[in-house]
Amino acid sequence: MAVVGAGFGGLGMAIEMKRAGMDDFVVLERGEDVGGTWFANTYPGCQCDIPSNLYSFSFARKADWPRAYPLQQDILDYLRDCAERFGVMPHTHLGCELLEAEWDAGAARWRIETSRGEVSARVLVAAPGLLSDPKLPRIPGIDRFEGTAFHTAAWNHDHDLSGERVALVGTGATAVQVAPRIREKVRRLYVFQRTPGWVVPHVDKPIGPRRQRLYARFPAAQTLARAGIYGLRETFAAGMTRNPSLLKGMEAYARLNLRLQVHDPEMRRRLTPDYAFGCKRMLLSSEWYPTLTAPNVELIPAGVEEVRPHSVVAHGAEREVDAIVFATGFAPSEPPLARHLRGTDGRTLAEVWAGSPRAYLGTTVSGFPNLFLLYGPNVNLGHSSIVYMLESQVRYVMGALETMRGGALEVRPEVQDAYNAEVQEQLARSVWNTGGCGSWYLDRNGINSIMWPSYTFEFRRRTRRFDPAEYREPPLEDAADLALEHGDVLGGDAAGAL
Ligand code: NAP
Repeated sequence: MAVVGAGFGGLGMAIEMKRAGMDDFVVLERGEDVGGTWFANTYPGCQCDIPSNLYSFSFARKADWPRAYPLQQDILDYLRDCAERFGVMPHTHLGCELLEAEWDAGAARWRIETSRGEVSARVLVAAPGLLSDPKLPRIPGIDRFEGTAFHTAAWNHDHDLSGERVALVGTGATAVQVAPRIREKVRRLYVFQRTPGWVVPHVDKPIGPRRQRLYARFPAAQTLARAGIYGLRETFAAGMTRNPSLLKGMEAYARLNLRLQVHDPEMRRRLTPDYAFGCKRMLLSSEWYPTLTAPNVELIPAGVEEVRPHSVVAHGAEREVDAIVFATGFAPSEPPLARHLRGTDGRTLAEVWAGSPRAYLGTTVSGFPNLFLLYGPNVNLGHSSIVYMLESQVRYVMGALETMRGGALEVRPEVQDAYNAEVQEQLARSVWNTGGCGSWYLDRNGINSIMWPSYTFEFRRRTRRFDPAEYREPPLEDAADLALEHGDVLGGDAAGAL
């Protein structure tokens, strides 16, 4: 068995297998360390906007989170620790990127070509993360820029922005974290905002040693805190997925926040969204508005039209800059990995999806036997922890492995189609579809192929049991070639190639 990716998804899968006594698997990770998005994103101010107590594996609580909301380094340390503690590291191949993977119908295995050799595996679990490949905008002239330019997800730590004139492009969840940190050191910060976001105060605080000791001595206290946060967050799902008018209170709160922090009416107008609260991801920051109103910061209510060797042009004006920081997000509905997975009819997942990812329970795809996606289509949340969703998926995969008993299965197309029709019907009334904004939740065909349309416990319920009746055996080329013995999860010859 091969798992691609060693972030929360891939590690969660690997740990669950270890806990079940399974040893015959490899984890392929293109990065130089485990951690996934928390290894890749090292921009100043990087922090999770889900509370620490909820943003962790249910089976590996951490009593000593230093803050209410975990910082990138703390999450990375936690994931490293989990990988070590549960014995995943000996299975993990770092700096090993999946280049191509093809379903070999004759052998009923995935033939996988990696940057470090070939492997074959009966089961392929793809956990590349949803937000792992940075999106750089195609701005005219961008290649001619003679200063330093980089994306927040590939922060250039060799370049010191101190004293420089810096353009920050984008005003999403990343930008609101990075801007206050670099504002302190740059000479001038130009923030290019195409669309303002709804911003609510971030109530983050250090967790003192007394609380940490309490959690260490009485884990039930932390479980209770976790359950409280979970329950509170879940109430948001009703507004986001069923009745967006329930979010009006939050919108009023965000308006009040803006009014209290920004006194110039013209600036307030520029910062007021024209779409419903929750349509784009809500921004959690107590520092964003004070940053934008600081003397060395200018908010430009437009995207960048053109880049010149030493300047950027926007809103009819040219501004000289030394560096450009792109906080322009990712392209989750066009995951690069999908271009490299080839199913039963020889087409890649990207070709089958044609810009609109679809799967059954965000996990299995018809025509791609024994492939399991973690954090696949329609699994993302606007209100709670993705780790909860990943654990649900991992349990589902474990159920599948037990049912398959060494065989091969693919989801029935009619099951997948009916499921996706249901998901889309539910999403039609969600704030993401009706709120009047454009966001990365909608793909290039205008379909919401990203968000889960209900409560997270509903996803848990749906994935609780793997139902073999929803699956069928994939077409075989040569049944005689099958090597389907239980436990024959990784081709031994192939394993040696890595
Ligand atoms: P994002 O939400 O997609 O925001 C990208 C920003 O770049 C938007 O403001 C977008 O403007 C702007 N943009 C894109 N192309 C542009 C162009 N050509 N010219 C000008 N502006 C352009 O990306 P993100 O901020 O990196 O966040 C992505 C996701 O990562 C979040 O939604 C969240 O799920 C996750 N995240 C979480 C945290 C956290 O836990 N605190 C932190 C960071 C990220 P428009 O809005 O007009 O498109």
